[in-house]
Amino acid sequence: MSESTIEPPPKLFVCDLCGLNSPFTYFGQKPPNTRAIVLLEECFVTKDPFSPDKEKFLILGSACSLCDKCVCVGTDCSLFYTKRFCMQCVNTHLDQFPKQIRTELAKKRQNASAAVS
Ligand SMILES: [Zn+2]
Ligand SMILES: [Zn+2]
Repeated sequence: MSESTIEPPPKLFVCDLCGLNSPFTYFGQKPPNTRAIVLLEECFVTKDPFSPDKEKFLILGSACSLCDKCVCVGTDCSLFYTKRFCMQCVNTHLDQFPKQIRTELAKKRQNASAAVS
C-alpha cells in the first residue's frame, strides 16, 4: 500500500445500453476551456486524450430525455432528434418520430443484419 497521493476517483460515465464506460470531466452544455461552444444538450464530456489542444473534447454521451438513462452517442444506443433519446425509447415511441427518422432507422437495421449474415 503506497498511495501517497489521494485523488478523488474520476467520475465515470457508463452507457446503460452497451456498457461503454469512460471517465468524464464535465457534464453540461458548455465545456470548460472552450471558446464559444454551447452544446445542444447537456452532455458527458471528456478532454480529448489524443489531442494536446485544450479545446478539443469528446462527447461521451448524454441522458435520455424520456427515461433518464445514460446513453453513449453511438448510433446503436441513442438518437438525437431535438433531444436525446435512448434506442429503447426510440423503439417504444417510434410512431411519434417523423417518417424520415423511421426510414433511416429501418435502413440502418437492414444494413446491420446484412452485415451479419
Ligand atoms: Zn452505448
Ligand atoms: Zn430512454
